[in-house]
Amino acid sequence: MHITESALPTNFIRQIIAADLSANKNNGKVATRFPPEPNGYLHIGHAKSICLNFGTALENNGTCNLRFDDTNPEKESIEYMESIKRDVAWLGFEWSELRHASDYFEQLYQYAVELIKKGLAYVDSLSAEEIRVYRGTLTQAGKESPDRNRLIEENLDLFTRMRAGEFADGQYVLRAKIDMASPNINLRDPAIYRIRRIHHQRTGDAWCIYPMYDYTHCISDAIEGITHSLCTLEFEDHRPLYDWVLNELQTPCHPQQIEFARLQLEYTIVSKRKLNQLVTEKHVSGWDDPRMPTIAGLRRAGFTPKSIKDFCERIGITKQNSWIEMGVLEYCIREDLNTNAFRAMAVLEPLRVVIDNYPNDKVENLEVSNHPQREEFGKRIVPFSKTILIERDDFSENPPPKYKRLIQGEEVRLRGAYVIRCNEVIKNADGEIIELRCSYDENTLGKNPEGRKVKGVIHWVSEAHSLAAEIRLYDRLFTAPQPDNEENFLDVVNPNSLQTLINCRVEASLKTSTLENRYQFERTGYFCLDSDSTNDKLVFNRTVTLRDNWEKD
Ligand code: ATP
Ligand code: MG
Repeated sequence: MHITESALPTNFIRQIIAADLSANKNNGKVATRFPPEPNGYLHIGHAKSICLNFGTALENNGTCNLRFDDTNPEKESIEYMESIKRDVAWLGFEWSELRHASDYFEQLYQYAVELIKKGLAYVDSLSAEEIRVYRGTLTQAGKESPDRNRLIEENLDLFTRMRAGEFADGQYVLRAKIDMASPNINLRDPAIYRIRRIHHQRTGDAWCIYPMYDYTHCISDAIEGITHSLCTLEFEDHRPLYDWVLNELQTPCHPQQIEFARLQLEYTIVSKRKLNQLVTEKHVSGWDDPRMPTIAGLRRAGFTPKSIKDFCERIGITKQNSWIEMGVLEYCIREDLNTNAFRAMAVLEPLRVVIDNYPNDKVENLEVSNHPQREEFGKRIVPFSKTILIERDDFSENPPPKYKRLIQGEEVRLRGAYVIRCNEVIKNADGEIIELRCSYDENTLGKNPEGRKVKGVIHWVSEAHSLAAEIRLYDRLFTAPQPDNEENFLDVVNPNSLQTLINCRVEASLKTSTLENRYQFERTGYFCLDSDSTNDKLVFNRTVTLRDNWEKD
């Protein structure tokens, strides 16, 4: 079957755009933007917005800008900007243009002057606290500021002097003059400029007044010729302000704001402020800690761009806020890695097995397939020798019913190698098992012996040929499904979200493998090489277990 774009499931945004295109609105152009504030690393919620904005452009042969919404310099940084560019590119998207709200500071200022000249903005000397009180409540109209009817000339003079740095921070604000009695509080003369003496990461000290988000966003969209300004539901009540500004000003165009539901993912947090707190208070090792729902964290954990994009498509775009199960994201990465990850063998908690009837110095280079279904992945060499390591829990002295692994006096198959039988269990003075003495059947390489059925298959590595590894097993970062709804989300941080195994041994081929760094470790899970690896010790992160262990909850 030929898969075309029309095979994509529809959603209300796709429908709006299809209708706009057939009406030849915006001359048939589609222009979107992804507008992060560079005050933290991007998270999985941003991935939803990125896939939507860039995806909408791609589907419609349109454009999508990456625009930094950098109007709040005290929380923003170049590090965050760089991380955002890296993450968007890693997901596989190319922005048409890289823009910054700060590119428009002069234009934004001139537009504000235009509003003042039209009698639609005034300089107010109320304090922030007074403005809050004057604003009123949902049930009570606001009260007009005594400065509301200041003369246009005076407003122009004061605004010029605000820019020139003649006043202290907070001494004045510029407010849009809309309607203090509006049922929509966003329209009760919102502040559009404030005085802030803060060094800006791009404009330096050129400005001591900074425009507010709502005012900046709509004008930036218009300057860039955005056709569809896609944002999350909390901006629905801000849309009248978005439209008011663009209706009152002579901007190049008037983009349509369309809101969609934010992603909320169970057992995690999608708020940069709270993620920042996890980092600064050291609940995690950094923004790219593999437990973090950041794109950098997911990447380090071994997630692929494909799995994240697949997830964003699956959850769909709607106007209803809902919680998505973590299992959906895990399903997407399992699907991808099951098809695309190389297989390898790693022993997480090793138990030594000596094969008594195997020649002392013999080493066999066994050829093992890299993927059971994908021949094109080829084979690798796995050395076999007299002393091997198996997983401690693949041997049992008191096997539960249906135990298919190794027990004394019985046989098991070593994956890709021989059938062995356990003859003797060696223990130390404390009664701990330290070694198994086994024998092998040389006629069982790659086939079952005549008339004998060997049910169990276990993984192994040759002790002398294996490499030391540290393996980090991750679990959910929170113990409650909706940490955001707890009184304090820090109270439900999972204390057991990281388990570090330091005595692991992995097969030698992992050292030289440069092509791939994501693996299915046979029977154990999906893993990814971590950047903490050194020449002496490889470090792997568990991306996801083989199956969903949480299913039964
Ligand atoms: P946070 O609360 O994490 O700081 P934000 O909305 O303040 O998020 P921005 O940098 O302003 O972060 O977000 C950039 C874009 O990503 C915005 O258009 C925003 O609507 C969108 N976005 C942010 N979080 C989510 C989410 N959870 N789901 C979908 N889109 C999101
Ligand atoms: Mg924001």
